[in-house]
Amino acid sequence: MTNEDFIEALSSAGITLTTQQLRQFERYYELLVATNEHVNLTAITEKKDVYLKHFYDSLTVAMYEQKLKSSESTLIDIGTGAGFPSLPLKIAFPNLKITMVDALKKRVNFLQEVVDMLDLTGVEIVHGRAEDIGQNPKYRENFDYATARAVARTSVLAEYTLPFVKIGGRFLVMKGSAAHQELLDGQKALAMLGGQVNEEFVFTLPNGDQRYIQIVDKKTKTPKKYPRQAGTPSKKPIS
Ligand code: SAM
Repeated sequence: MTNEDFIEALSSAGITLTTQQLRQFERYYELLVATNEHVNLTAITEKKDVYLKHFYDSLTVAMYEQKLKSSESTLIDIGTGAGFPSLPLKIAFPNLKITMVDALKKRVNFLQEVVDMLDLTGVEIVHGRAEDIGQNPKYRENFDYATARAVARTSVLAEYTLPFVKIGGRFLVMKGSAAHQELLDGQKALAMLGGQVNEEFVFTLPNGDQRYIQIVDKKTKTPKKYPRQAGTPSKKPIS
């Protein structure tokens, strides 16, 4: 996806970026590929692929959860890696307050560099595992939204994300073609942790790849024993 295609595809979805925001995406891209030379951040490095599969794909969630575009919502992004989807969302919608969590220190260091370079405010970067941070009262049930792209299957993600979401908030699931089956397999975990599936959207990226966005509402408190010890959710998903 060229820069022109990026601008046009977003514009047809009602998202208009200023010259300054486009420049921020450009600088983010440049630092991503430069750092990727010595720190493993992403397998996608071709410019047109980064714009499509990282930047545009990250922003699709705001096309289905419109409130992200204009409210001062708080969003926690678990296993954010090189910042996806939360950093593109922050650049496009500066009103959002984001918290980025990742277990790998080198990735967290990269995120801090991007945030400093782009002069972003309303961003917190946390180094650690979702299972540990989810038991910290500072973060627990304190967010309007949680995301986690390309981190684990839905039954596991439920335990990584729902403990952070306030009652009335939402876990926004972003997935590829296995999404529907994963949602079915994750029903029990979602319910156990206080979630209820609200809506599922299926669409294609401009290159034809299929994507799903599933909205899970946080209805009741997550029982205190979740998340379990680090490593347990992925080894023994709730089923
Ligand atoms: N979300 C990014 C994306 O879509 O490009 C990164 C995906 S990367 C495949 C998965 C990331 O999740 C890695 O950076 C890894 O360190 C992080 N991760 C995996 N399990 C985690 C956990 N339990 N707590 C925090 N981070 C985790």
